[in-house]
Amino acid sequence: MDIYCPVDERCSAVISALLEPLPPLKIQEYYERLLASRNCSTIQVKLDGEFGKGVYAQQDFAEGELIFRDQMLFGCQHPSNKIECMVCSSCFRFIGTVEQQIGRRLYLQSLGLSSSHGCDADEKITDADVSSDTSDDENIGWGESNEEPGGSGSRTRENKKLCPPKEMVETLMRGEFLLPHSDKFLLPPIVPCPGGCKEVFYCSKLCADADWDSCHSLLCLGEKSKAPSRAALDKFTQHANETNDIFLLAAKAIAYTILRYRKLKTSCERKRKLPDSSDCFDLSLLREAWRPISMGHKRRWWECMALPEDVDSSEEVTFRMQIKELAFQSLQLLKDAIYDKECEALFSLELYGQIIGMFELNNLDLVVASPVEDYFLYIDDLHSPEKEEVEKVSHQFLDALGEEYAVSCEGTAFFPIQSCMNHSCQPNARAFKREEDRDGEATILACKPIHKGEEITISYIDESLPFEERRAALPDYGFTCRCSKCQEES
Ligand SMILES: [Zn+2]
Ligand SMILES: [Zn+2]
Ligand SMILES: [Zn+2]
Repeated sequence: MDIYCPVDERCSAVISALLEPLPPLKIQEYYERLLASRNCSTIQVKLDGEFGKGVYAQQDFAEGELIFRDQMLFGCQHPSNKIECMVCSSCFRFIGTVEQQIGRRLYLQSLGLSSSHGCDADEKITDADVSSDTSDDENIGWGESNEEPGGSGSRTRENKKLCPPKEMVETLMRGEFLLPHSDKFLLPPIVPCPGGCKEVFYCSKLCADADWDSCHSLLCLGEKSKAPSRAALDKFTQHANETNDIFLLAAKAIAYTILRYRKLKTSCERKRKLPDSSDCFDLSLLREAWRPISMGHKRRWWECMALPEDVDSSEEVTFRMQIKELAFQSLQLLKDAIYDKECEALFSLELYGQIIGMFELNNLDLVVASPVEDYFLYIDDLHSPEKEEVEKVSHQFLDALGEEYAVSCEGTAFFPIQSCMNHSCQPNARAFKREEDRDGEATILACKPIHKGEEITISYIDESLPFEERRAALPDYGFTCRCSKCQEES
């Protein structure tokens, strides 16, 4: 029994047009423009026959040298991580103050919202039925631990933490209580969403406006949202939070394309002096709006996703069908929320599967180090007797935060240039943040000397695995590695 999506059938011609590969010259031109717009001249994206696109050095690089930084096209913070850290929804810098970061986290923990009991990311994918709620977290409150610090009679938890008084946490969160030396760790201010939702925040008006224009205006749950149905959008978001946050990213890609299509159409109509808002569909404009997404390597999500270890190969067909069903459920919710008649093809299961598959195959983990860690390390480096004085204040918060006192911002993102880099089991580059890289951009560093003209490669897998395991891990990407290490070991 297969899933029937009527939009797949109705829009089959448009879907094929969007998925059709562009001529090599157009692809080349796209990357040349993209690199030029970023003033990046250290690399080039070239097409070669065998593996499609590749990234090539335009100069020599020494070991450890920065090759390039890549700005994401779409990214999102994992929903559970939003409790741990507050970052700009556009550039992913930490925002507010060190006090707000700490106070907010302790406050949310006190409400029992923290996810500090281990990561269940792997289980999420198939777990469409999220019936087990998180009510067992209710006990992490201040309530019990506050009254009787020595040992309360309530059920004990392994990670029970000593918590400072609630009032203190609240004054910390409101910025009325300053931690010693926190002025050495200044962060950008918290800028609210222009649409009035209280879900996302930014580091600047620039980031807020950029995100609003690119996709958030259609995905905002606030009063000024341009989504046709905010109630449906809320349902879609909840479903994604409970099942797989990759759907949130797919929604960004679709909203981005719709908004870009509308902008292109308006400017086109002005040029031709046509009356505004004529609703005749223009395929060439939709293809243009879709271009940045068309560049990423794609396969259908339910076909390219690696089979989780706990799924037996005899259940593979059923598993893939469940994934497809889950995507279809999510798509229906999104369609109810932000449907656009002219861009109907974007609400087909085929394109939804291809967009999510593109993220599955290309995305990098998004990680931004926390300033809270820097703060406590700085305090730890102070000399006596000042250190002891300061720690009297700071340590009660450090103790309350527990072992994972400085959780990084974590999420997933698609990077347009990085995603062109081919795999090698002996890569000459890797994605690795330096001390100064405190935003969501990907940083690509040389891990051995690279000469001008050489292809720059990274490893998609753990390259230290033995040959057989590497080979088993790689086919999900749709190719067999033929790097010299694989050729030697085969
Ligand atoms: Zn920002
Ligand atoms: Zn908003
Ligand atoms: Zn290899």
